[in-house]
Amino acid sequence: MRELERIRGMIIYLLSFIVLVFSACNRQAKLSEPYVVMLSMDGFRWDYTDKFPTPNFDKIAGMGIKAKSLQPGFPTKTFPNHYAIATGLYPDHNGIVMNNFYAPDLDAYYSISDRDAVENPAFYKGEPIWVTAEKQGITSASCFWVGSEAPVMGIQPSYWKKYNQKLPFTQRIDTVIYWLKLPLNKRPRLITWYFHEPDGKGHKLGPDNPKLGKTIVYLDSLLGVFMKKVEKLPNSGEINIIVTSDHGMCETSSTRWVNLSDYLDKDWFKVIEGGNPNYNFFAKADAYETINEALKKVPHVHTWKREKVPERLHYGTSPREGDFVLVADSGYVVSWKDTPPPFTGGAHGYDNRNTDMHAIFYAYGPAFKKNYIQPTFENVDIYPLICKILHLNPAKTDGNLVNVEGMLKVNP
Ligand code: AMP
Ligand code: ZN
Ligand code: ZN
Repeated sequence: MRELERIRGMIIYLLSFIVLVFSACNRQAKLSEPYVVMLSMDGFRWDYTDKFPTPNFDKIAGMGIKAKSLQPGFPTKTFPNHYAIATGLYPDHNGIVMNNFYAPDLDAYYSISDRDAVENPAFYKGEPIWVTAEKQGITSASCFWVGSEAPVMGIQPSYWKKYNQKLPFTQRIDTVIYWLKLPLNKRPRLITWYFHEPDGKGHKLGPDNPKLGKTIVYLDSLLGVFMKKVEKLPNSGEINIIVTSDHGMCETSSTRWVNLSDYLDKDWFKVIEGGNPNYNFFAKADAYETINEALKKVPHVHTWKREKVPERLHYGTSPREGDFVLVADSGYVVSWKDTPPPFTGGAHGYDNRNTDMHAIFYAYGPAFKKNYIQPTFENVDIYPLICKILHLNPAKTDGNLVNVEGMLKVNP
């Protein structure tokens, strides 16, 4: 009898011990609520960190992961790719098919300099990562990420800002740190933010110009300032930092110039959208065949009937791309006789197979492995990666977690 009671006592003791351990684990799981803070430095080519001294990027590579490069979607322009990163959808599927385009479905024009268009949710397709987060109870914030200024699916980040290029980078850093210091019930756990350099200087100087080094070194030092500020936060151990970009940059030259007016007559077109080195053409009905034949004669470019764009470019299914798609060969500039050729030092928009168009992806934090080199991957894979880190149910996208989960710790 006594023996039986002793065994019963032991079982009760064991059971209470197990319950205690389980509830402690649960509390632990609740306490560890991951953060993702993703910065884009516009036009930061994948190899700038090899060409110029960047100790803070190098530090991230040691503390976390560095991708060999990040492949942008086509066209390799700013808006299509920032929104591809946000939604996990190629530009062909995310609605933002170019920096400026005509949307026949809305009978409306989109342009990055048109505030009404940029803030109009009708142009944006898919589910941006901050919408996924907000829908699933995670507060988000954005300082200038493309798409965050429009209530896509009726939802915007809890905190967002109207685009103001004049806001100094240091103030953008302080804004993000301010958000990360908000009381727990107000604090965003997903932050997307944006620097418009080194794109501007890359266009002006060209990616091969040693003078570009000044900008890269400055951006690297700003990254260092930001990392130090994050390190001082009480919950820095929960914060995952991503630094990425939308595309690279290709050296141009006045000796590589095609004047489209020598081959095409603007009167043949209903709408011409895009800009060097990409064009989307909407043909007037009676000019379709004339245009088709004329485009074949334009040198140093690739042109396709929209439906014939090669599959690997994941482009050509959206009516917003017009009847014909044109992209200059890498390093070539295209313009019209009434618009001066943009003989700047650099351009982007070219075929995403050209590694000059490739971008960066660096990351560190509790979710990421240390000192890990990730092979080149597509930017549509960033959406499922962030969903995984934040324990979010992802929307259906063109991205695939399988391509990127090698960067993550198995049990963070
Ligand atoms: P591009 O080099 O032509 O593809 O575009 C880069 C430019 O996009 C930058 O220099 C910024 O001026 C502009 N830009 C980036 N984000 C925004 C935004 N949210 N609203 C308006 N313009 C933007
Ligand atoms: Zn850009
Ligand atoms: Zn640019």
